[in-house]
Amino acid sequence: MSALIEGQQGPWEYAIGLEVHAQVASAAKLFSGAPTAFGADPNTQVSLVDAAMPGMLPVINQACIEQAVLTGLGFGGTIACHSIFDRKNYFYPDLPQGYQISQYTQPIVSGGAIAIPERTVRITRLHLEQDAGKSIHDRDPDRTLIDLNRAGVALMEIVTEPDLRSPDEAAEFLTRLRALLRWLGTCDGNMQEGSLRCDANVSVRRPGAVLGTRTEIKNLNSIRFLREAIDVEGRRQVEIIEAGGGIEQETRLFDPDRGETRAMRTKEDAHDYRYFPDPDLLPLELDGAFIDGIRAVMPELPEARRRRFVKDLGLSDYDAGLLTAERARADYFESAAMGRDTKQTANWVTGELLGRLNKEGLEIEAAPIPAAELGELIDLVADGTLSGRMGREVFEAMWNTRRPAATIVEERGLKQISDTGALESLVDELLTREADKAFEYRAGKTKLLGFFVGQVMKATSGKANPKTVNELLRAKLET
Ligand code: ADP
Ligand code: MG
Repeated sequence: MSALIEGQQGPWEYAIGLEVHAQVASAAKLFSGAPTAFGADPNTQVSLVDAAMPGMLPVINQACIEQAVLTGLGFGGTIACHSIFDRKNYFYPDLPQGYQISQYTQPIVSGGAIAIPERTVRITRLHLEQDAGKSIHDRDPDRTLIDLNRAGVALMEIVTEPDLRSPDEAAEFLTRLRALLRWLGTCDGNMQEGSLRCDANVSVRRPGAVLGTRTEIKNLNSIRFLREAIDVEGRRQVEIIEAGGGIEQETRLFDPDRGETRAMRTKEDAHDYRYFPDPDLLPLELDGAFIDGIRAVMPELPEARRRRFVKDLGLSDYDAGLLTAERARADYFESAAMGRDTKQTANWVTGELLGRLNKEGLEIEAAPIPAAELGELIDLVADGTLSGRMGREVFEAMWNTRRPAATIVEERGLKQISDTGALESLVDELLTREADKAFEYRAGKTKLLGFFVGQVMKATSGKANPKTVNELLRAKLET
């Protein structure tokens, strides 16, 4: 997908701003003690507060505040010492309160940025708000059912400036934001389960011109859909403008099956939410010590860790980037590399392990080979017990049987033969049998060495240590 849209009358540029809803990783909801676990039976995780029973009062869950602060610090935002919760009033059957508690005028975090390869993307704000329940339309032929399990769950809404310039940049940004949230442990980033959802604001303009009118595409629940939706929406807008029309500021939905966006509501039916400070909640006051306490436990961030992997551990930029794309990857690598050659370990993790995980569509948390056991395998290759090829064979067996390298090596009799004594007699036999070739070698046809090495490898079913065989052959042929 290219960054510019080629119109009939020349190129157009995208301007894209994202509004990301990230479910806060916390055991309980934002203003009640009801649990948040995904997949429970409908309406089993609903407190009287979530069901908006008369007289029930919200109580702020401190864990959710801590997660929002940690996230804000993670992208370099400014944490507000004073923020407030507002009521955003609207009627919807899955919103029993008749309003959503959100932060409108004074969010908990302002500013910050996340870098993508092309540019630094500014973050406008992060605010906390409640999620709504869910209307279920396909269980009963005549009625809509309501599940309030999600009602009141804490969300962080993270809004960017319109800094993104292509569908790919938007996808890259969301990938990095998701990785950061998972890195910090503030959101599990599971887009299938709806823990991370994204609205995309899209406009087009002539390169360098002022921003055009935007449309907002709601509820994109995968990175692929985000990219596709922006792509088709940009091209739709260019067609309209080039035909002499204007873009209406409206909310649209993406239909992945038909590859198009469709109007959902226009500005005319824009809600008047009648925001006002929630009288049931005091302003949220955070003191410096609270914020510093969170800063103190903040893990080393991806970018810092990437730089350290290059500078202190001698990894290539490429490997360091791959290994810090997810915190679990970086942790796995560092524990496998403990006391070992870091580059060799990086090769095994990025090559063998990530390759295999990728093939099976698994995250590193699901790898059947624990880091310490991969380390043991690396040792067996490093000390010459296994050749590189045998190492990969053992890796495969470890993956399939979930048993440690030493056991597999034992069972399969896989040990590489590095013992000079054992190999010497084989070499002697070979040189006697192939006396003609040995003669040719000595007469100057030294490329026959490969033939001799091949013969020894064949005789040992590939178990001979090629380095030892080479040395032995040279010694015998050159005297
Ligand atoms: P609202 O308050 O109506 O939601 P905001 O100004 O807060 O509008 O913007 C919401 C989102 O739309 C932000 O992510 C912002 O970057 C993006 N945005 C604003 N103007 C444009 C534009 N002209 N083109 C693309 N995105 C835009
Ligand atoms: Mg908005």
